[in-house]
Amino acid sequence: FWINVLGVLSTKLTEQNFYTWVEPMRFQQKSEDDVTLSVPSRFMKDIVEKRYLEVIEETVTRLEGKKLAIRIVVDSGEDLSPVSDNDAPEKLQTDQGEDELVLEAESSAQPHQRHAAHTMSHHVLSPRYTFESFVVGNSNEFAHAGALAVANKPGTTYNPLFVYGGVGLGKTHLMQAIGNTIFQKKPDARIVYVQSEVFTNEMINALKNGKIEEFRRRYRYVDVLLIDDIQFIAGKDRTQEEFFHTFNALHGEKKQIVLSSDKFPREIPDLEERLRSRFEWGLIGDIKPPDLETKLAILRKKAESIELDLPQDVALFIAKAIKNNIRELEGCLNRINAFNQLTGVDLSIDVIKSVLKDILMDTERVISSDDIQRHVAQYHNLRVNDLKSKNRSAELSYARHIAMYLCRKLTNMSLPQIGREFGGRDHSTVVHAIKSVEARYNSDDKFKIELESIENQVMN
Ligand code: ADP
Ligand code: MG
Repeated sequence: FWINVLGVLSTKLTEQNFYTWVEPMRFQQKSEDDVTLSVPSRFMKDIVEKRYLEVIEETVTRLEGKKLAIRIVVDSGEDLSPVSDNDAPEKLQTDQGEDELVLEAESSAQPHQRHAAHTMSHHVLSPRYTFESFVVGNSNEFAHAGALAVANKPGTTYNPLFVYGGVGLGKTHLMQAIGNTIFQKKPDARIVYVQSEVFTNEMINALKNGKIEEFRRRYRYVDVLLIDDIQFIAGKDRTQEEFFHTFNALHGEKKQIVLSSDKFPREIPDLEERLRSRFEWGLIGDIKPPDLETKLAILRKKAESIELDLPQDVALFIAKAIKNNIRELEGCLNRINAFNQLTGVDLSIDVIKSVLKDILMDTERVISSDDIQRHVAQYHNLRVNDLKSKNRSAELSYARHIAMYLCRKLTNMSLPQIGREFGGRDHSTVVHAIKSVEARYNSDDKFKIELESIENQVMN
């Protein structure tokens, strides 16, 4: 039972959150109306209850077909840090840093100390994320080549390396592969991998506690700084300011900087211009959704690594069903593996369909013209009603054309149906819109990036 729940949860949470918070929980028992799970510390119980209880409940309800209460208990005779109620909120804040890693070979100094009180495993550069375990295909070969170059010659090839792409497409994997490779070759290199939100939280805490100098030393005297999901510093003035100086200090010393983001630098709203231009100084490597062949190769490789015998037709079925998120591909495999080990039933497509029913239901979400209009409007800072209006200003027509094009591409709607969704325009207007978008897509790189980015947002 629990292994199935884990299978689903692993597809719903980020890898880091899953392994840091959810996977370490132990299943205790299940009764008619509740499920008991244990965690090693009070601290962990607080976090799990606060952030993950809902998704766990939801998943259990779905798998069981009825609602069960989730009880989380602390099970550890050696819980070193009984968190008293009045310092709990403080703890929660500083320990957002739990996801981060500081590898410092020469000293196991202070950054680790504040974590030492917890029994949970500290999330480090995951040894799973290597170049060997990364499958290269059309969709990611460019980013991969950039990452490899940087890993082999940090600080001297592309600086910064900026990797961008949609959710679950391998950005974190590539970044950590860089870190792992450098660490292997040079174990005394100071490598810091951190989610940008952790960077932000640490900075805020440092400011609050008068420890900003310590914070700066920590990030400015490193050999390699890997900051994941940098888009989250947008709109945060103080963080951007601090990061700007960090960036300059490191870049000036030819220390390698690697950044990842779900968007191209130009597309990140509320990002300071001076940062945006710096992000474009080095190499920008994009990762696109994988094609079928790459998805199959990934499935094969992962199946091999967990020693799962995956029939080719089943692999093909999964690769086709999962549109563009590699994390979901993995989730399917884990689930199938659990099922296979528990039951020993032969894997056929029918079996797979029922084992993966809820995951497939999620991914078969039908995209509607509403979804598309909403995303296009949001992207261009317009209202959905503007897209449906008679107004033919250049700006509106531009956005309207994009939305029409995406309706044609991503839905099964006919041309007249599309026209109706845009304030009753006729089908020749729609044809014209689609053609003009296609022409521009093929001739204008900036437009191409914009369109792909909107499409990604709609798909996710
Ligand atoms: P992102 O950071 O872009 O959201 P991740 O790096 O976390 O995505 O990737 C999601 C999962 O998919 C990870 O488990 C990762 O190992 C796996 N993955 C992504 N791309 C590849 C690839 N090309 N080959 C093998 N595994 C991959
Ligand atoms: Mg990531």
